[in-house]
Amino acid sequence: MSIMRKKIVAGNWKMNLTKDQSLELVNEISKNVDNLSEETEVIVSPSFVNLSSVVDSTSRNKKVQVAAQNMHFAENGAFTGEVSAEMLESIGISTVILGHSERREYFNEGSHLLTKKVEQALEHKMRIIFCFGEKLEDRQSNNHFDIVREQLQDSLFHLNEVDWDSIVLAYEPVWAIGTGETASPEQAQEMHAFIRKLVENKYDDEVSNRVSILYGGSVKPANAEEIFSKPDVDGGLIGGASLNASDFTAIINAI
Ligand code: PEP
Repeated sequence: MSIMRKKIVAGNWKMNLTKDQSLELVNEISKNVDNLSEETEVIVSPSFVNLSSVVDSTSRNKKVQVAAQNMHFAENGAFTGEVSAEMLESIGISTVILGHSERREYFNEGSHLLTKKVEQALEHKMRIIFCFGEKLEDRQSNNHFDIVREQLQDSLFHLNEVDWDSIVLAYEPVWAIGTGETASPEQAQEMHAFIRKLVENKYDDEVSNRVSILYGGSVKPANAEEIFSKPDVDGGLIGGASLNASDFTAIINAI
């Protein structure tokens, strides 16, 4: 059976790039993705302050979507410095990255909080790129499958099947993020197949075959093709290499 899952290459710009730099980068990327197939989607995720400008500059190029890197779980209120789903919606953002390991590590975002964020995003009909993955010590002690199972169970497995149309999974082993060390294509495939099986066991094979599972962790032009060639890897979440138009374009072309 051939499965038509969406292929996605998403760039996470993190806390990088000024407004002018963001516009310059997205313009470069937009020029290079015109011939991309319908099934492939390109996403960029600028900082909050540059989201609006990037949305405006990509409004005529349907090939490049724009996502937020985070959002708050509450509808509104006294949460100084935070950004709500409604605010994102109001500037044309319909995709949000949640659960990135840097949010988990530096801002203490755990399963309880992430579950609330997931629910709030769905309430606003936003698509969620949900990040999860084990730390080095988990892999060294052979706990990586258990950790990944828990992360998914805790934040996503209470959702119904329809909600899963709004979920994109991003498996990001923490030891591979920004370290230059990539999971081998075999390690990525092994974990992605495990994740798809978890979803199948919890729901059914329709849900599990439909959900895109991205790999993230030091993807670069030199290793993208091999990783993306694995049957359960449906694209990538790219950090460092997404800040350079030619590297990011090469990664997109690898899909
Ligand atoms: C990320 O932060 O999601 C990421 C995968 O970063 P990098 O590509 O730099 O490892």
